[in-house]
Amino acid sequence: MSTLVLPRILESGPGSLSRLGSVAGQAGISRALIITDATMIQLGYVERALSALSEAGVAAAVFDGTEPEPTETSIIAGLDCLKSGVEGAEFDGLIAVGGGSAIDSAKALSILAVHGGRMRDYKVPRIVDELGLPVIAVPTTAGTGSEATKVAVITDPESDEKMLCMGLGYMPFGAVLDPELTYSLPKRVTADTGIDAITHAMEAYVSRKANPFSDQQALAALRLMGPNIRRVFEDPQNADAREAMLLGSTLAGIAFSNASVALVHGMSRPIGAFFHVPHGLSNAMLLPEITAWSLPSAQTRYAQCARAMGWAADGTSDAVANDILLEELKMLNADLGVPTPSGFGIEEARWRQLRPLMAEQALASGSPGNNPRIPTADEIVELYDRVWA
Ligand code: NAD
Repeated sequence: MSTLVLPRILESGPGSLSRLGSVAGQAGISRALIITDATMIQLGYVERALSALSEAGVAAAVFDGTEPEPTETSIIAGLDCLKSGVEGAEFDGLIAVGGGSAIDSAKALSILAVHGGRMRDYKVPRIVDELGLPVIAVPTTAGTGSEATKVAVITDPESDEKMLCMGLGYMPFGAVLDPELTYSLPKRVTADTGIDAITHAMEAYVSRKANPFSDQQALAALRLMGPNIRRVFEDPQNADAREAMLLGSTLAGIAFSNASVALVHGMSRPIGAFFHVPHGLSNAMLLPEITAWSLPSAQTRYAQCARAMGWAADGTSDAVANDILLEELKMLNADLGVPTPSGFGIEEARWRQLRPLMAEQALASGSPGNNPRIPTADEIVELYDRVWA
């Protein structure tokens, strides 16, 4: 048996931002607060979102104070803005324009606006099935898949914990997937977010919670992204490759949201929280080594990932496809300039000191328990050692 949770509307394709007003109308939104950051304003994306809303008769205002890898501090600032309302009335919906950080910020605001409290009240193991304000997501990165997940990740500024928050309440009502908004992504963000999405699809496929529905989304996502991740890095204006990566990242989001992520994500969140490594990059630092460690427990599934990405030919034996997968993951990191934690500039003494706490936080998130090979805390500490340099 599996429970599947999905958004209600996805508008997809080049130019689909023009459909934002009609999606907002379908969600019953007539007074929207756009949740975004200064970069989205500079790029003109917020202006285009505002005009699409205005054409559909939706009143809107803008909160541009979201931060990358959001802490609760920026969420509290957003709540103040939300309370001010628009045209003398309360906002009745949120529109996130940006990457996973803006989308997760909107999700958190949606819940806090209706149910009150602090984000730490809503972290796992609590499951938030209560609904907040409707959220429409307009992703501008091809990575997190947050536009189609029942997940939000918010950092507690006091404990530095990247809190995993889950439940129906975090699923956006709808999303607009316009690949043209991703052409402006800097190379580094293109690479990090692309590997994040590949990690979502792979982890969903090997997860102990995988199911026939998530398997189809994961494999379709890998087929789209395997051949295109290097293309978008080398040729950022390649329309077909950008569209494939955006669709692939959304499908990967649907896959992991309905099957869970696993050990890579569990170990990645504490690296992001303690050392301010962007989420996709910390996944990328871990993916080859954690795959090598996990592989003996799911050889056939990992082989299918290699075939779906076009890295191993159909008909290749599982053993050969497994070797190709490990080799290709290492080469992908080299080609996309992914540093080790040491190469990123993390202080070695602090890394070593924090390994037990990071292992504890990784286990507490529940994600390692979905891995095909389940680690102990000591094994996670040992894996943090292996990826160091
Ligand atoms: P991001 O949203 O943090 O964006 C990274 C940077 O890129 C920002 O400075 C942003 O302004 C800029 N940017 C975004 N789009 C751009 C564009 N089109 N052109 C130019 N610049 C652009 O990055 P992200 O990887 O999308 O999101 C990361 C966050 O999402 C993390 O907090 C992570 O934990 C979370 N996450 C959430 C889920 C989920 O299901 N909710 C899944 C994975 C990760």
